Amino acid sequence: MSVEKVVIIGSGPAGLTAAIYAARASLSPLCFEGFNAGGLIPGGQLMFTTEVENFPGFPHGVMGPELMKAMRDQGERCGARYIREDVQAVDFRQRPFTVKSDSRAVQAHAVIIATGARANWLNLPNEQRLAQSGGGVSACAVCDGALPMFRGQDLVVVGGGDSAIEEGSYLTKFARKVYLVHRRDQLRASKAMQDRFFRLVREGKMEPVWDSIVTDVLGEKTISGVQLRDVKTGAERELPCKGLFLAIGHTPNTDLFRGALETDDKGYLKTRPGSTHTSIEGVFAAGDVADHVYRQAVTAAGTGCMAALDAERWLAAQGID
Ligand code: NAP
Repeated sequence: MSVEKVVIIGSGPAGLTAAIYAARASLSPLCFEGFNAGGLIPGGQLMFTTEVENFPGFPHGVMGPELMKAMRDQGERCGARYIREDVQAVDFRQRPFTVKSDSRAVQAHAVIIATGARANWLNLPNEQRLAQSGGGVSACAVCDGALPMFRGQDLVVVGGGDSAIEEGSYLTKFARKVYLVHRRDQLRASKAMQDRFFRLVREGKMEPVWDSIVTDVLGEKTISGVQLRDVKTGAERELPCKGLFLAIGHTPNTDLFRGALETDDKGYLKTRPGSTHTSIEGVFAAGDVADHVYRQAVTAAGTGCMAALDAERWLAAQGID
């Protein structure tokens, strides 16, 4: 089995930026891009986004999939190699490390993990059915909110964090009204986001539904409402709506590494402060898989760059270049 210098797992902005930098350092990186939505999605979460307005260098915005294609092409031009497969297993117990996908096993002196994170769902049966059929249930308002089916309608966002407020306020551009359903009567969101929320409430564009959880999603082909339960009184009621958007946090894609690498209590990979070194020498982490705070394309790209530089220096220190 040949031994790769650097294997990259994941192909969002973190993985692809690591690929560009590692390729330019003549490390000829091999990048497992992922294949399906079971976690590793080629191109990562930006493939589900429409316009990205905050990636520097694009004053008129850029479409998420277009940005990812450009990053991929740039890596390829620099000498990165891509495999469109999910990684099924890793063995970091001995060096060189082993990385296995469906069709092959490769050995690697260094591994960069950039498997990202995925949105959480409530996992209600009708939620999944209507999400998969495009029936008006989504875990990404920014991706789907501008669809014609939501214009002028009443919409529901679930969650009380920054994402819920950000996504809810985005939806007010299209909706008649956005209801924010939160399981407590206090928001987790930052002060600035709370200010934004209460301003929108005063303007009649948003309305809080406190102490409530969604217990079912109603509707056959498209959503017609949600069933709510007041967690304090136990009372159930129906709230008519034409869209349901979940904003209840993310889960890092770290199942593959459970037990092998140190994680925090939410499952995010731990890195040495100010670097991308994980708990195993020669294994590096970049992007959302190690970041539950910033979660931006540009920060993912930044840490992808750091991971490639850290890997390059670490390999050089091992006498591998
Ligand atoms: P988060 O802060 O973890 O908030 C998740 C929210 O969902 C919480 O209010 C939580 O309720 C609720 N929740 C979780 N599981 C639930 C369930 N099963 N049923 C009902 N509600 C549930 O996640 P986030 O809002 O995605 O933010 C993640 C990080 O990204 C944060 O650090 C945030 O500051 C950052 N972020 C920043 C911005 C920005 O500044 N522009 C935008 C988005 C995200 P409880 O409050 O009761 O736990």
